[in-house]
Amino acid sequence: MDMEEKSKRKNIEEFVEIMLEACEEQFPKKCSCCGRYFETFQDFLSHTIIPVHSKDHSLQLIDSQDLHDVIAFRNCSCGTTMTVQCAVDKPQKKELVHAISEEARERGVEPEDVAQLLRDKVIKRAKACNTTKR
Ligand SMILES: [Zn+2]
Repeated sequence: MDMEEKSKRKNIEEFVEIMLEACEEQFPKKCSCCGRYFETFQDFLSHTIIPVHSKDHSLQLIDSQDLHDVIAFRNCSCGTTMTVQCAVDKPQKKELVHAISEEARERGVEPEDVAQLLRDKVIKRAKACNTTKR
């Protein structure tokens, strides 16, 4: 059981693609305040910024009994904070949160640090492939 769990765990790098797809799925999105329309995740990334006061905590990691989520915060140019979920379906969220905490334990860092690292990779990847699939 334990062995199986271990071999089943995805390498943290494998989540970059999964997270990117999950983020892309949530678009188009509209700012509830100014009504700015973000057609794609890439569009959103280039027109929003990481909230300044929360530079180190722009990702919220939720890990409880039956609630698992990684939520990213970005500020619209009007100043409104918008959120993007880093995984969409429930098993995937759980897998992601678990992989992050495992990786953090192995490296001896905070889960938020691992999440932050992943976020940077996802953003980099998103900007590199400036065309949306399908
Ligand atoms: Zn706005």
